Amino acid sequence: MKFDYDVIIIGSGPAGFSCAMQSTKFDKKVLIVEANDTNMGGSWISKGTVPSKALRSAAKLIQSFQSQFGDEKGRKPYQQFRMEDIMKYKSPILESKNRNYVDDIIKNEVHTARGWGRIIGKNEVEVIDNLNQKKKYTAEYILISTGSRPSPPENITIDNKQVLDYSSILELTHIPRRLVIIGGGIITLEFATIFSALGTRVTVLNESSETLSFLDEEIKNHLNSILKTKTIQVVNNISVEKISYNDLRTNSEVLYRTKEEDRLQVVETDQILFVGSKVPNTENLGVEDLKIKLTDEGTILTDKYYKTSVPNIYAAGDVIGQPTLASASFLQGRLASVNMFGNRDDVTDATRDMPYGIYSIPEISGIGLTEKQAIELGLEVTVGRAYYKSMTRAFLNHETDGMLKLVFRNDNLKLVGVHIIGEQASDMVHIGQAVMAFDGDIKYFIERVLNYPTYAEAYKIAAFNGLNRVHKSGVKYKKILDKNS
Ligand SMILES: Cc1cc2nc3c(=O)[nH]c(=O)nc-3n(C[C@H](O)[C@H](O)[C@H](O)COP(=O)(O)OP(=O)(O)OC[C@H]3O[C@@H](n4cnc5c(N)ncnc54)[C@H](O)[C@@H]3O)c2cc1C
Repeated sequence: MKFDYDVIIIGSGPAGFSCAMQSTKFDKKVLIVEANDTNMGGSWISKGTVPSKALRSAAKLIQSFQSQFGDEKGRKPYQQFRMEDIMKYKSPILESKNRNYVDDIIKNEVHTARGWGRIIGKNEVEVIDNLNQKKKYTAEYILISTGSRPSPPENITIDNKQVLDYSSILELTHIPRRLVIIGGGIITLEFATIFSALGTRVTVLNESSETLSFLDEEIKNHLNSILKTKTIQVVNNISVEKISYNDLRTNSEVLYRTKEEDRLQVVETDQILFVGSKVPNTENLGVEDLKIKLTDEGTILTDKYYKTSVPNIYAAGDVIGQPTLASASFLQGRLASVNMFGNRDDVTDATRDMPYGIYSIPEISGIGLTEKQAIELGLEVTVGRAYYKSMTRAFLNHETDGMLKLVFRNDNLKLVGVHIIGEQASDMVHIGQAVMAFDGDIKYFIERVLNYPTYAEAYKIAAFNGLNRVHKSGVKYKKILDKNS
């Protein structure tokens, strides 16, 4: 063999992992280089996706206990739990995920090198370990999957004590009484609802004029009405001026300016979480020396096959920019490998019909067009709604906050969008995704037996609701079914 490896992967997160697994299916020799000495898996296992979801599950259990059994002798369930209890819940989950990861790479004979990876030639990577020892490895292909990291503005310093980022908040040893979150995206909403479920008073300071602008309007309204019942205050359209510590009052203070009224305001808090912008990890990687092209945002530029401007060097995951999700990174890493070693025709468009999943409490998920987008595109559409409060399964679980909305075409009943807020939303969306992928229509939900009681029943209720609406607008229900059968 001309090189030490068929592919060297720099970064062991979801993009790197899936590229490694797929490459072994092509019988290729793979090396993963990982800078983190203790954990593999990147933001997926050690810092982001899984740990935050473990914290969420614990918070959700506590909240569900509250909604099902109420207060215990005047004490809220969250008052009976401490952070150590929650950590006890989280730790075994992370240990198992780490073990599974290591088992998978051992089973598939993937080699690993611990240390900082730097591309020093188009087929060569140098790895510097924590004792400053250097080793060089060669490969036919290289994948850059180095991820991204939080990037606070100059006036915000993350000290991991008062001001935390999304990894240090997952290591808290106590539940803060008050928390200010600076941010306005998906992760902000997730942490806001998690800590609210644990009894924390949360203030969200959002620099933009609205949060989660991509959501369907009705889902957003539903979310806002749920947020009003929680200990969360959202302040949009602000700029953070200064963060300081008040020794006398032993708390932190965030000074912010409202953009519309141009007024300075201050909020006192125990802790601050920064979840604003992220930057791709491209420094000290050798990209400049090899003249690997970057986008204006500083992410690595790739073509639709995840190839960079240097033909045997690929990039996938957060380092290539949006959507910066583990879900998308898994697919991108696999597709990069398919393009290196398999049939290029099997490389699909990873962004096609992509759902989003927000693991707030309750969950929010969606796919396809919102009602507004469909109308803007000139489509004649009708919507069908199902409210969780009319679903048996939701009643059984005391999870009656939520709704599912279908957007479908009037002429052929084809499903063009699904939007859900409520329990199991991020799983449920995949039913709609499958129907849409096979160009299906809402008759599917009406004509098939669905298990009962399930959350999936919402699809049936919403389909009937939508058909009734089409019917009311003058088209006979039976005619539509006949026409399309
Ligand atoms: C709090 C939080 C919650 C999230 N929740 C979700 C979710 O619910 N669903 C979802 O889909 N996504 C979620 N994400 C996003 C998801 O974690 C990332 O999109 C995903 O991990 C990116 O994968 P990646 O492979 O590109 O890089 P990463 O997972 O970031 O991994 C990159 C790896 O590269 C290593 N590395 C960097 N530079 C070098 C170098 N030069 N040499 C060697 N190693 C290097 C790093 O140490 C790291 O291990 C969440 C993120 C956060 C922060």
